[in-house]
Amino acid sequence: QERTFIAVKPDGVQRGIFPEVLKRFTQRGFKLVGIKLCTANESLLRKHYVDLQEKPFFNSLLSYMTSGPILATVWEGKDVVKQGRAMLGATNPLNSAPGTIRGDFAIDMGRNVIHGSDSVENAKKEISLWFKPEELV
Ligand code: ATP
Ligand code: MG
Repeated sequence: QERTFIAVKPDGVQRGIFPEVLKRFTQRGFKLVGIKLCTANESLLRKHYVDLQEKPFFNSLLSYMTSGPILATVWEGKDVVKQGRAMLGATNPLNSAPGTIRGDFAIDMGRNVIHGSDSVENAKKEISLWFKPEELV
């Protein structure tokens, strides 16, 4: 079965949006196979966002992602990577359709509440970065 990595970012945890995220993915029919609250360190985030290292916003992304606890989750199910991205909405919340998580709960790109893997390959990479095998059901 396909798996994806979904993380509620520090703003989403702090604002109490994480139960809504769990509810939406569960009600859609996806299976929760891993969950933990954690604080990300810089070295983990540099690996997680390796493709963005050269971007001008990278340092602010690092401070955002280390500003509080993150709810890291892994979900399993049919087409879950693509379906999960659709449930998140566009990167810029101003372009996210109503009904998506970002479209319903965010307006700033720098505080867009949630992360989701963008490909099956990256999902595998991110799951192994954030979780030990024994932490997954
Ligand atoms: P994520 O990987 O967090 O799910 P994404 O795949 O939609 O988001 P990416 O291009 O991977 O978008 O960017 C990662 C994160 O970096 C974005 O979610 C956002 O928080 C931040 N970001 C991306 N582009 C910008 C930008 N132009 N200005 C500020 N922050 C940005
Ligand atoms: Mg991304």
